[in-house]
Amino acid sequence: MAIEKTLVIIKPDGILRKLSGIAIDRLDNAGFEMIGAKVVSVSDELAHKHYCELANEPFFETLMKFIQGEFHDTYKKKVLALVYKGENVIEEVRKTVGATNPEKAEPGTIRGSFGRVSTKGYYENVVHASGNAKDAEKEIALWFKPGELLD
Ligand code: UDP
Ligand code: MG
Repeated sequence: MAIEKTLVIIKPDGILRKLSGIAIDRLDNAGFEMIGAKVVSVSDELAHKHYCELANEPFFETLMKFIQGEFHDTYKKKVLALVYKGENVIEEVRKTVGATNPEKAEPGTIRGSFGRVSTKGYYENVVHASGNAKDAEKEIALWFKPGELLD
């Protein structure tokens, strides 16, 4: 199995609810190696590029507002972007993160423990994690410059 890299984002709901530490703790305890970290104020352009494959989904416009912190106002509407590296790390991190819908995520996962479905219907699922190798490569290149990773 090849060594992979994956992008994790503590989303604006996770930042507002002070869940960065516990999310990182879960990833630490699962044994993943962090090789990059930065706080980012998500621009409209970054949001669109990151989620471009979902552009035709009915929830896309809400997702654009959500990831830019429009619903969770924190200092500079920041998120925390992280890169983890390791064997099969993309799939393994997804297991630790849990299913997209927090109500369907296993209780022990990050989303299952801390996520909620907002009363407006979108998912406040605390963290993003790359879904596959192609997405991980695209996303890491979008969020980080090569020199910003311990690679
Ligand atoms: N999302 C949502 N409602 C949905 C599906 C997705 O609010 O019905 C949001 C949610 O924040 C999710 C993101 O859109 O994490 C990206 O969706 P994707 O299907 O890629 O899920 P993920 O890869 O994050 O599990
Ligand atoms: Mg996805």
